[in-house]
Amino acid sequence: MEQTLSIIKPDAVKKGVIGKIIDRFESNGLRVAALKKLQLSTKDAKEFYAIHKDRPFFGELVEFMTSGPVVVIVLEGENAVAKNRELMGATDPKEAAKGTIRADFAESIDANAVHGSDSLENANNEIKFFFSKEEIL
Ligand code: ATP
Ligand code: MG
Repeated sequence: MEQTLSIIKPDAVKKGVIGKIIDRFESNGLRVAALKKLQLSTKDAKEFYAIHKDRPFFGELVEFMTSGPVVVIVLEGENAVAKNRELMGATDPKEAAKGTIRADFAESIDANAVHGSDSLENANNEIKFFFSKEEIL
């Protein structure tokens, strides 16, 4: 059993597709172990995406991630990290495979509906960033 972190980004929250996205997870063997809606501060977003701090799009990424509330979710299941990435589709929705979350709900490479941890190690760190042990059930 693995755990991974998903974030439903501000574009998808604004569109009202939280339920539709969670359905993709639950219909594909990923269980919701923890969930909350929150507004990221600029400091939070910079810290969360620190790995990208030298990339040219960092400023836009932080601005976008703080542009409205997000929903953060701990997903649990077999191969949860890889399965979540598969359900999400490619970073750029134009390249995302048919039937993936980004193909169906994302507009552009920056407003791309969801985040998903890209390794087990990052998943553990990202989960700790948002949730205490007691909040994960
Ligand atoms: P995420 O980390 O959000 O799950 P990802 O792992 O598919 O997405 P990363 O390479 O980690 O993609 O990039 C993090 C985020 O930065 C992307 O989701 C996207 O919103 C933004 N991003 C990545 N590349 C670009 C780009 N070339 N131009 C603008 N934004 C970008
Ligand atoms: Mg990433």
